[in-house]
Amino acid sequence: MSARATTTWISGPVLRAASTGAFLLREAVVVGADRLLGEVIRVARDEITVQVYEDTSGLRPGDPVEGSGRLLSIRLGPGILGNIFDGLLRPIGVDGSAGEDASEAAWVRPGMREAAAGRFRFTPTLAVGDRVTPGAVIGEVGAAGAEPAEQGLRQRCLVPPDAAAGEIVELADAGDVAEDAAVCTLRTDDGGEYDVALSHRWPVRLPRPVAKRLPADEPMLTGQRILDCLFPIARGGTASIPGGFGTGKTVLLETIAKWCDADVIVYVGCGERGNELAGLLAEFLELQDPRTGRPLLERTVVIANTSNMPVAAREASIYTGITVAEYFRDQGLDVALMADSTSRWAEALREVSGRLGELPGEGGYPAYLSSRLADFYERAARVETLAGARGSVSVMGAVSPPSGDFSEPVTNHTRRYVGCLWALDVRRAQARFYPAIHPLTSYSDSAQGLARWWHSAGCTRWEILRRRFLTLLEDEARLERMARIIGRDAMPPRQRLTLLCAQLINQAFLRQSAFSEIDRYATPQRQAVMMRLIGSFIDAGDKLLADGVPPERINTAPIFRALMRMGEEIPEGDWERFSELDRELTATARRLREAAAEVDV
Ligand code: ADP
Ligand code: MG
Repeated sequence: MSARATTTWISGPVLRAASTGAFLLREAVVVGADRLLGEVIRVARDEITVQVYEDTSGLRPGDPVEGSGRLLSIRLGPGILGNIFDGLLRPIGVDGSAGEDASEAAWVRPGMREAAAGRFRFTPTLAVGDRVTPGAVIGEVGAAGAEPAEQGLRQRCLVPPDAAAGEIVELADAGDVAEDAAVCTLRTDDGGEYDVALSHRWPVRLPRPVAKRLPADEPMLTGQRILDCLFPIARGGTASIPGGFGTGKTVLLETIAKWCDADVIVYVGCGERGNELAGLLAEFLELQDPRTGRPLLERTVVIANTSNMPVAAREASIYTGITVAEYFRDQGLDVALMADSTSRWAEALREVSGRLGELPGEGGYPAYLSSRLADFYERAARVETLAGARGSVSVMGAVSPPSGDFSEPVTNHTRRYVGCLWALDVRRAQARFYPAIHPLTSYSDSAQGLARWWHSAGCTRWEILRRRFLTLLEDEARLERMARIIGRDAMPPRQRLTLLCAQLINQAFLRQSAFSEIDRYATPQRQAVMMRLIGSFIDAGDKLLADGVPPERINTAPIFRALMRMGEEIPEGDWERFSELDRELTATARRLREAAAEVDV
């Protein structure tokens, strides 16, 4: 018998109701004749407070609230992959419209129900009589009717993490089954029976359990040089992308979503414009995963709660997103979650808090903003799953500080919980220098831990070159100020050389257009080759300077221009052209040195 209550007060997405039964904190409820979905966010003796995840304008005092007896949860199953959902994992159609009415406002309709169960091919990997524990893999899951060779990403069927351990007493043969039908029955250790289906429910606010957390010593490659080489994120790591309006947060997150080396992408569009997300979906349908040649959308889950959708659902959307990410992680996959933008999520939190009459803290945000941010980012991890496999969830969140002021609460609190800060700079963006990540205000706490990976990938000087680049960029900032005062020509050759090297690092390495066919992403091999070439240029410049060759000679040599353009001009795999550049660099250095020696004589 579910608990019941009667609405007494409504304010925007929040309502109070006089309750007779016992409601759980965080229990899912339905409200009114339209059966709008809500969640209990406060429980008092004879009153509950509910946040409603749809438009509440039709609700009136007296409308009934009905408990579900379970926490706000979502159904996790193979049907999630390649689809688009609202903040509570209800499908909203891949074309970004909700069916007949394609206007943006139609993305969510009141009382929309969860996805219908799809059919999938199940292939058991265990047998009757086997003993299983929670989180164990009992079979593989692919598209219904398809042969294994035509399957995209292979998914797995898990014993839900909250099930009891037991023995398999029944197990379906290989074949097509409905997502929610039992494929396996366990006799649990306490003598009960437990049915396992391809899908199971999980409460969104509860982190899914793991066997243990693993150290962050593998990179989550983004294909963006400034990130992978200067501010790398580890698998299971976290990054915050603060940036004012138009500095490139969305383009950066989308670019990472397209080219990073995760198995599954969870893209949470949170309070941003709907048309942007529709554009992303259209692109994902067309683009091919460079590793598998299959459509990118196949390995992507989009959770959309755009600016025109109910505000409270926005609050839930990031928990829904991370729960979905954990579900794939638990199948032994590497997952990347992008949230654009966490500021819009925080605003939803603020709005609900305001309606509740809570004492506002900094910037009007509730005092628990910080702990909520911590809860979210702490769910990122590289783990050993309950089944003993390895999986990870890496989280990247955009932050949109009002008027680009990074001292505001959301930017500030987020900074405390993330391992990487990729700070977007207005001036770089204005100069159309993309990605506009500022190399001096950004950081990564994983660089040291990842140096070994680069070493084993063949880039033995990664850590040295990385530090060299960062030092040169720091020197550049200082020297630029000086150059503005005394003029470049009046600076000593050493300093002019530093500026030249920094120019090369910026233009040839850090700058990378998301819209260039050749350069939109770079494999670690290509990044390493470019890094080495620039390193060789810096070394050659140092030697030439010692031999009395002024930096201007180097700067006007054709090799300098060729290096400046290598990102845009030399595609993946064309190693011979990179080697040519290397030989040309050596030859140029020799020529300049000889010319200088002749002048000396
Ligand atoms: P934000 O989300 O921060 O408001 P956007 O991501 O929408 O900003 O970027 C604004 C514009 O800047 C884009 O439409 C694009 O023209 C340009 N831009 C941003 N990032 C890049 C990039 N990496 N490469 C090329 N152009 C970019
Ligand atoms: Mg944006």
